[in-house]
Amino acid sequence: MNAKTASPVFWLLSLLTVLGTDLPAAAALELELQPACARQGETVKVVLRQPLPAPDAAVQDRTLPEVHFGKKTYSAFLLPTRAADGRLWRALIGVPADLSPGDYVVKAEGQEKTLKVLDSSFGVQVLRLPAGKDNFDSSPGEVEAVDAAKARLSPEQYWQGKFLRPSKARISSPFGLRRRVNGVLLKDYFHSGLDFAGSAGSPVLATQSGKVSLAHRGWKLHGNIVSIDHGQGVVSFYIHLSRIYVKEGELVKAGQKIGAVGATGRASGPHLHFSLYVNRDATNPMNWFSKSY
Ligand SMILES: [Zn+2]
Repeated sequence: MNAKTASPVFWLLSLLTVLGTDLPAAAALELELQPACARQGETVKVVLRQPLPAPDAAVQDRTLPEVHFGKKTYSAFLLPTRAADGRLWRALIGVPADLSPGDYVVKAEGQEKTLKVLDSSFGVQVLRLPAGKDNFDSSPGEVEAVDAAKARLSPEQYWQGKFLRPSKARISSPFGLRRRVNGVLLKDYFHSGLDFAGSAGSPVLATQSGKVSLAHRGWKLHGNIVSIDHGQGVVSFYIHLSRIYVKEGELVKAGQKIGAVGATGRASGPHLHFSLYVNRDATNPMNWFSKSY
């Protein structure tokens, strides 16, 4: 094609190519990782941005984008934004605490980004447990029910802002610790949450708003347990409780009293085991206490 026969559209396209600007119809989603460099156990926010308002209804009504990391697929949910800002979707990845440090690929909508995973240097806790307490025996149906609670993926986002500490007590055991029990380092084990050294009967608070997905008494491993579904793959657990004040299906508010500290189930003394799961992976709650996702 020479200059004489080139159409105005050709010139417009050429100009946009030179300027590095895509036409609205061709605008691909931009993929961003926040942060792009995360520690083991940290949550990574995956943001998909459509820079311009979608040009046609087919794109407006598109299905939710999917994000791929390792062998898992994550749903991205639309965030409320002003039309002029384009559209944003967010997926949350809980980097597993036992994932080897290194570079990993996160893919979505034909784009990919490198996620650098750094070593968290979790310590090892040495425990002595009396015979009969040094096992992970569970009640019939217990593990299945807890797994089902971890896997909840409600489209609604119930939480707003930072998460609250579920107990005013000091933290006696941090997230990610490996354990040596009676001289044996437990294989494939890391501490999946935080232990709060609350005295028996002290209040346990909902870390954020959500819907109670589990309120069960008397399990061998977890004892009395509550779990709250915060939506979009974020679920919190409150374990070894002496009392439970909520029912399954109930909506709770951030900071609401949901139970009391106890030593039910496999516990060597009164404490609250609190854990936060993000798309089925245990994540370090400390990050959620200090920033909004
Ligand atoms: Zn614990």
